[in-house]
Amino acid sequence: SIPLGYFGGIGAASRHGILFKGGNYLDAITRVNTVVFDKTGTLTRGEFEVREAHAGNGFEADTMLAIVAAAEGNSTHPVAKAVVRYVRLRGIEPLAVTDAKELPGHGLSVRVDGREVLVGNTRLLDTNGVTYPAGLASVPETVVVCAVDGVYAGYLLLADAPKEDAADAVAALKSLNINNIEVLSGDKQAIVTKLAKSLGIDKAYGDLLPADKVARLEELKAEPGRKVAFAGDGINDAPVLALADVGIAMGGLGSDAAIEIADVVIQTDQPSKIATAVKIGKVTRRVVW
Ligand code: ADP
Ligand code: MG
Repeated sequence: SIPLGYFGGIGAASRHGILFKGGNYLDAITRVNTVVFDKTGTLTRGEFEVREAHAGNGFEADTMLAIVAAAEGNSTHPVAKAVVRYVRLRGIEPLAVTDAKELPGHGLSVRVDGREVLVGNTRLLDTNGVTYPAGLASVPETVVVCAVDGVYAGYLLLADAPKEDAADAVAALKSLNINNIEVLSGDKQAIVTKLAKSLGIDKAYGDLLPADKVARLEELKAEPGRKVAFAGDGINDAPVLALADVGIAMGGLGSDAAIEIADVVIQTDQPSKIATAVKIGKVTRRVVW
């Protein structure tokens, strides 16, 4: 049976917009000594903005954008939403697509007018043997590249800003003596490193596929004494949320799958609430024991 004090703790947490799925997690979170963050939508706002768009190989810019938006219309990824919004605002109608396949950590493959279209990061084009301007892979910004029938057709540059309380979130964890903090991302290493530095996080892992994130969590969990919380918005991250000692989902942007599988849901979307949750857990433990 659950000691009565945990109900008080769960209630206190809910008044802060923190939903504990059970008293056991209120206890488990006080033992966490490592916090692993997803980047997009967790430490950053997850609201990308298209900064630039350039067509290549003789494609018209509007045609390239119509193709890209058509593909991205089949994804709920924050990058996809930003691209669709940008193209719509320009009054360009997305084209009709068939055979849409989302490729986690890469982008999408679709058919438009009988043509084979790839829209995603440079890794997607690498995987399919499509060449593109050499500089694109190393730009320290999020890049969406488009290829039609195996030919590079253009790219967009996007940016996403850190959440307002992301730096506070890291500082608050450190003040609780939780100093092992990492960020894992499918985004480029250069972007992840830059963000981590600006927030005071030492370990930044970029260019990860969803399976690589799982592997990093397994590596951490194999270390004796390591208690790991993972915080993510859940897009492509449900397996990592499930694996962590405490899985924490961001409730605002978070996917339904993430909210379902998480042990703790932060409804306000603020990563600083992780430290708040630890503090409430500690106070509750004092009451219970
Ligand atoms: P993260 O949330 O850590 O960025 P994801 O696995 O969700 O990781 O995505 C990794 C990368 O894959 C993104 O940064 C982006 O470059 C690319 N990507 C994923 N989905 C799409 C999409 N629908 N359109 C374009 N690029 C995408
Ligand atoms: Mg994600």
